[in-house]
Formats: sequence, structure tokens, C-alpha cells
Amino acid sequence: RGSDIGKSLYEFYSKSMSEEILKRVEIESEISRGIQKKQFFLVYQPKISSDGSTVVGFEALLRWNSQKGILTPDKFIQIAEESGLVYDLNRLVLDIVCKDIKFIKENAFKNVSVAINLSGKEFAMYNMIGVLNEHLKKHNIAPEDIEIEVTERVILNNLELSRQVFDSLNKKGIKISIDDFGTGYSSLELLLQLPIYALKIDKKFVDKIELFSNEYIIVKSIINMAKEMRLKTIAEGVERKEQYEILKALGCDQFQGYYFSKPMRVEEIKSVKM
Ligand code: C2E
Ligand code: MG
Ligand code: MG
Ligand code: MG
Repeated sequence: RGSDIGKSLYEFYSKSMSEEILKRVEIESEISRGIQKKQFFLVYQPKISSDGSTVVGFEALLRWNSQKGILTPDKFIQIAEESGLVYDLNRLVLDIVCKDIKFIKENAFKNVSVAINLSGKEFAMYNMIGVLNEHLKKHNIAPEDIEIEVTERVILNNLELSRQVFDSLNKKGIKISIDDFGTGYSSLELLLQLPIYALKIDKKFVDKIELFSNEYIIVKSIINMAKEMRLKTIAEGVERKEQYEILKALGCDQFQGYYFSKPMRVEEIKSVKM
């Protein structure tokens, strides 16, 4: 009897596991096809100055116009990473962002830079800076027009590499911000040795800032520390006026969030009046 149960359990698991694998393989080949067919595009969310009056930059956020509709990165980035497709995706993103930067500069904002997000594998990929340079050159984009966002986890997982990469990006004039700041296991001491431009305060803290509890204290400390270290602070996920006002009073430098603007298609940037 015992072995029967064992057998059916085995069949149960192996069936669901093979289904899982099948599903994964399916998604992988859909992503691969999506890259070939250029089904990916970027939407842009403005970064707003501290007085709330000016667009100082944009963040590029990836979208996939898949058979299942328009998908956000949480639905595909991890699989793209694990399957290695993220390298091709990264090249496609670089091509798109360079073209879009041209469009934005010619049609809307002459002096803004656009930030792209790099995942762990993209950041640590062989010759990442070479690939980046190659795309900037091909599209005739100045390094100052582009910025990079990586999470603290990515940096600390690749500390030696990060030192070199940050150094050469910094020398080229490419700014680097730390994304989702406050959520990783950050070794502040290690992080702050690197040439960083800004800390992006995670939405998780912004969400609860109006309660004036721990989240408020954390944000206040981050902003004060950043000021002492001459780093900018950018608050992400600002949805309400009250949040903006508290963050502004604390001295936060830039803001992003639905209160100011949702991410938009590149053509829509033309109609932004700020
Ligand atoms: P992130 O860099 O922290 O991006 C912020 C996310 O918060 C975006 O989600 C944005 O749409 C969302 N957001 C902004 N303001 C608000 C708000 O006021 N309320 C709410 N509820 N959400 C807000 P999205 O576009 O789904 O991106 C999720 C994550 O995927 C990003 O987090 C980033 O880590 C990653 N990602 C985005 N684009 C790329 C890319 O091109 N390459 C890679 N490797 N990762 C990307
Ligand atoms: Mg980001
Ligand atoms: Mg973020
Ligand atoms: Mg975040």
C-alpha cells in the first residue's frame, strides 16, 4: 500500500512538474518570438523636480505586447533572465531607448536624460559597457542622455564588478541610481563607496509615509544621509498630494508616481506641458 501511495505521489509530482516545464518552455519561445517580432516597447514615466513644476528626466519601463495582451516586466523578466533571453532583450531595449531619446529631444524635451533598468544578469553580462557604447554610437546618442538604475542587491551580488563598472560609467558621464533603495540587505558602507548619483526611495516606504511611523523615520533618515553624502534622492510611487508634501518638506529632490504621471508611450510625451 505504502509503495502505491509513493507511486501515485511520484506520478502526481512528475506530471505537475512536466506541465510546469512545458509552460516555461512555451513562455520562453513566446519571449524569443516576441523579441524577433519586436513586440516589446518602452513606456516613460517622468521624474519631477522638487517644486513639482518641471520634468527633469524620464524612466524607461519595459512592456510586452504579447498574445495575452500588454504585459509588465514582473510577468516575463525573470524567465528571460533564467533562459538567457535577457541578453537579446537588453539589446532590443537599448535600440528602442536610443531611438526614443532622439524623438523626445527633437519633439519635446531638449535637456532630459532617460534612465533604463538593468537586471542582475544584464548588469553582470560580459562586456555590458561595450554593448552599451556600441548602441550609443550606432544611434549617435551622448552618454549624458542615458542613466542607469540597478538595485542594491544587484550591486552587492557583484561587488568587485560593480566597482569597475560604476567607475567606467561615471567616467563616461553616465549617472547611476540605486533602485528600490531600502529594500535590500544593503551594506551601506560598501554601497556608498561607489560613485552613485541618486538613491531611489522604494514605493513601500512612500506608501506609508503619511502614517508618520517607521516608514517616515526611515525616509527621513535616508534623505538626511543622502544630503550629507551629496547624493540625490528620488521618491518612487508617489500617488497622493499629501505624500508629495511630506517628502518635499523632508527635502526629497525628485518625484515619480501616478500623482504626477503614469508611464506613457513615447508619442504622448509631446503633450506633456511642464
Ligand atoms: P522599478 O524600476 O522600481 O519601477 C517602478 C515601477 O513602479 C514600475 O512598474 C512603475 O510602472 C510603477 N509605478 C510608478 N509609479 C507608481 C505609482 O504611483 N503607483 C504604483 N502602484 N506603481 C507605480 P513596472 O513598469 O511594472 O516595472 C516593474 C519593475 O520591472 C521595475 O521596477 C524594474 O525593476 C523592472 N523593469 C522595468 N523595465 C525594465 C527593463 O527594461 N529591463 C529590466 N531589466 N527591468 C525592467
Ligand atoms: Mg527603476
Ligand atoms: Mg524602483
Ligand atoms: Mg520599486
